[in-house]
Amino acid sequence: MEDVPKLPDEHLEKAKEMISRHRTKKNCKRCYDRGYQGINQLNMVITCHRCVDEDKVTQEWQAYVRDTPALSEIYGDYFESAEEATDEEKPEPTPEAIRRVAAANRGRDHKGAQRHRSVGR
Ligand SMILES: [Zn+2]
Repeated sequence: MEDVPKLPDEHLEKAKEMISRHRTKKNCKRCYDRGYQGINQLNMVITCHRCVDEDKVTQEWQAYVRDTPALSEIYGDYFESAEEATDEEKPEPTPEAIRRVAAANRGRDHKGAQRHRSVGR
């Protein structure tokens, strides 16, 4: 796994500011009107997709990273490759892989149902 350094706090504040500028709703229970739901392991803000225009924030953030030498040095490549990435790195699933996963899930469901029956007794 690649080691991505944490985002320095000063830039974290900047990210929050950007998010608050791109909120699309005033009242949001999901994020308590903060526009973000938390901070991830990399000290990056997890935007609230209910009330924030994520595309615009991402665009602005990437521009900010590019314009900030200290950040583009750290995250330039990261954004190129990790766009749309979730916590885990998953390769693009091939149709064959999907079929295999589906088969595996069927097996698991079957066992799960059995276990459930005995537990609920
Ligand atoms: Zn929200």
